[in-house]
Amino acid sequence: MVVKPPSLILIIGAGLSGLTLGRLLTNAGIPNIVFEASPPKRRQGFSITLRGWGYEALLAALGDVSLSSLQKGVASDRLIGGAGWLEHARLDNSTGEVLIAPDSASVAAFRANRNALRQWIADYGEESMDIRYNHRLKSFQSKPGSVHVEFENGARFSGSLLVAADGVHSIVRQQILPHVNPEVIPAVVYHGDFSVTREEFDRTFAPLMGKANIIAGLGDNFNTPITIADANKQRYYLDWSYSRPVKGASDPLYRPDASAEEAKQIPQALLEELGSLQLAEPWASVLNPEAIQEHSVFSWTSRYVNMPPTDFEAAAKEGVVFLGDSWHAMPIFGGEGGNHAIMDAVELAEAMTSSPSDNTAAIAAFYKRAAPRTGDAIKRTRQRFLIMHRPLAEWRDLAEKKKSLAIGR
Ligand SMILES: Cc1cc2nc3c(=O)[nH]c(=O)nc-3n(C[C@H](O)[C@H](O)[C@H](O)COP(=O)(O)OP(=O)(O)OC[C@H]3O[C@@H](n4cnc5c(N)ncnc54)[C@H](O)[C@@H]3O)c2cc1C
Repeated sequence: MVVKPPSLILIIGAGLSGLTLGRLLTNAGIPNIVFEASPPKRRQGFSITLRGWGYEALLAALGDVSLSSLQKGVASDRLIGGAGWLEHARLDNSTGEVLIAPDSASVAAFRANRNALRQWIADYGEESMDIRYNHRLKSFQSKPGSVHVEFENGARFSGSLLVAADGVHSIVRQQILPHVNPEVIPAVVYHGDFSVTREEFDRTFAPLMGKANIIAGLGDNFNTPITIADANKQRYYLDWSYSRPVKGASDPLYRPDASAEEAKQIPQALLEELGSLQLAEPWASVLNPEAIQEHSVFSWTSRYVNMPPTDFEAAAKEGVVFLGDSWHAMPIFGGEGGNHAIMDAVELAEAMTSSPSDNTAAIAAFYKRAAPRTGDAIKRTRQRFLIMHRPLAEWRDLAEKKKSLAIGR
């Protein structure tokens, strides 16, 4: 019997899921092209939390790579000798005191710079990946085993399978499953980035952050994490977020319909709200109405996609498979979406290498593993939004209970 060589896989999106899948298929000798709408130099330099279960799956799939080599390549503070250390304590942002200390069995996780992570994944193999930047998908026709895609720049390609790794606003999903719409979490989330000299970092941030790459600040129904996105010997590149539940129907800071340009504007109501907060350092130096005017700020609309099996199975019958946020975008609170995007790619690559000439079987095997994992995560992260934004009095009660439990042990 002659075994047919696997034919071309078309992957839309060079985010974490698309790049990981492209890299693993390339390493396994399965032909693929990754198409990305953006140019090669992208912004999105902020950092994300990589969790043990996510990075361990990636490292194993790449051939038992060591954690330290991943950390050296991607940790937010790698250029100053760090390994992305994550402090799990949650601090009262009005005093700087520890409210919730981490449990002794600390969760395996570290902070990674997103750009560095993408580059590291793309580079991790002997063969170069085929990534076509500036290719924004416009439309496609598909049936099992035969897919034709067309890009806004006029380029056309054909292959055997279309992989939708094109994020929460997936064009592929919009075209094949137009009734599936992302739902909006009733959350106000503002995000800003800025940089400081090393001296300024040592003066203002290091006293509370120490060597950690994130400082989780809790307030009365609002959160103020500050994270290191990147650092070198001269400068620290930092991000802040300010998040809280929506207050009533006319909350001026809740703008889910804002255009990309509008989302970058700083509303007067945000300046007033930040001005009214009683914050300790380092939050006071960052989240103040004067300082943020110098930062690059955007308001983030937190969305989730919860696709029922009937939908992804219908798409599979048309030669389309979803990866990452395109089928299970989840609230960013507690940082899991990027890890699931990587896990999806690892699991789909495993299924495809086990059945190289039967994409239908590979897709069915992939969803059987991935759907329960991601469905649980969507529920968990939606719940986490409520837990993270509770009144300060509740946090204090919780802290007291934890203390007395520890004494009683
Ligand atoms: C502020 C913030 C903080 C976060 N923190 C964490 C965290 O700590 N931990 C964590 O695990 N997750 C975190 N996440 C979530 C995580 O970033 C996402 O879940 C993850 O990036 C999803 O990966 P993806 O590959 O599915 O999609 P994306 O990363 O969105 O990639 C999709 C790619 O497709 C491209 N694309 C879109 N449309 C087209 C088109 N028509 N044609 C071609 N290309 C297209 C896009 O340009 C993009 O590069 C965070 C998200 C945000 C916004």
